[in-house]
Amino acid sequence: MKKTQDHCSFCGRPQKEAGMLLQGISGFICYECAQRAGEIFREQMPRSGFSLSLDKVPTPHEIKAYLDQYVIGQDDAKRYLSVSVYNHYKRLLQGKDDNEVELEKSNIIMIGSTGTGKTLLARTIARLLKVPFTIVDATVFTEAGYVGEDVESILSRLLQVADYDVEAAQRGIVFIDEIDKIARKSDNPSITRDVSGEGVQQGLLKLLEGSMVNVPPKGGRKHPDQDYIHVDTRNILFICGGAFDGIEKKIAQRLNTHVVGYNSVQNKQHIDSKNLMKYVLPQDLKSFGLIPEIIGRLPVLTYLNPLDREALYNILTQPKNSLVRQQVKLFKMDGVELTFDEDALQYMVDMAMEYKLGARGLRSIMESVMIDAQFDAPSKSDKKLVITKEYVCKQLAKNTQLHA
Ligand code: ADP
Repeated sequence: MKKTQDHCSFCGRPQKEAGMLLQGISGFICYECAQRAGEIFREQMPRSGFSLSLDKVPTPHEIKAYLDQYVIGQDDAKRYLSVSVYNHYKRLLQGKDDNEVELEKSNIIMIGSTGTGKTLLARTIARLLKVPFTIVDATVFTEAGYVGEDVESILSRLLQVADYDVEAAQRGIVFIDEIDKIARKSDNPSITRDVSGEGVQQGLLKLLEGSMVNVPPKGGRKHPDQDYIHVDTRNILFICGGAFDGIEKKIAQRLNTHVVGYNSVQNKQHIDSKNLMKYVLPQDLKSFGLIPEIIGRLPVLTYLNPLDREALYNILTQPKNSLVRQQVKLFKMDGVELTFDEDALQYMVDMAMEYKLGARGLRSIMESVMIDAQFDAPSKSDKKLVITKEYVCKQLAKNTQLHA
């Protein structure tokens, strides 16, 4: 307990005026001085001291093993991502005045239908990494001067998550979702002004290439009176994802002409016509409407497999935070032991296959099935709940239009 004559050793105010005082070995500090001291430290201390060494960086095998805990399947995409992220660290570690070989940035583009795990991969990798990470949606961007966001706002978000530590943001990773939505709508760029297509791609190109970009500090639109923050994008890793609906047609066209041109019978046997995505090449992205310059800046191209029945079942049950485990946890917090019958799970997977929304369908099915039980469980005395197939059918019939 402090006596009344105690005073803050920094501002000198007595406790009566300064309020609560914290006692140190040979003095006191008041709340205001402590707060001010915190600010000074934050302003003046060398920022986050990025002291990486390659032996502290997870290896591609470790990165993939981590992804395996949360994401089912998609081995190719996981391998590409793991290597690219590992190389990203190597780039950050390369000596500045090495005048020998300079490691170039390898931005990534992942293509795959909706709900196959693109965002999940990006989010999961972000958890593992010690660099600022943000996810942005390409659909919000329009060409500068039009309604919508400038592409520079990507960097504002990155700055925000880096707590405005510019150095840290400059080493960050950005996931740009729905990159396919800024594809050029028409093959002829000069017909009409394509506000959300080529113009945005040109804007994005600047960021991907690596340049000094002026970023409005609070995000949003640039404003002439604002002081910009200068962000160098040379070391920012960009991971782009998109569903590229319809790209299979372009791939098929290319494969067909290719097959005819060569030994057609032999080549045709090797083509897995159910999953054409895996044959994607940069030229297919061009046919889809991405400009060649953008494609050139996204040299690592990988794909995600469509999810089959088995994959959906595994997604429902296996990952560390699978939908089943999440439900079990929710109920456990109410003291209820929840279990699912095997045929109930199988039935939910069948429904998800019908919905054709990838794993997204599973989530909404699980919610519809469990909503009533979640509503009742906390007020019931039953401490056990078994979800049967009949219960799933009943709930889906009651709670979803699609099932009826
Ligand atoms: P998108 O490919 O459209 O970005 P998401 O990654 O957002 O798909 O997937 C939606 C949800 O579906 C995720 O939150 C996750 O719960 C589940 N999911 C999708 N694919 C997988 C997968 N391969 N493994 C585990 N869960 C998945």
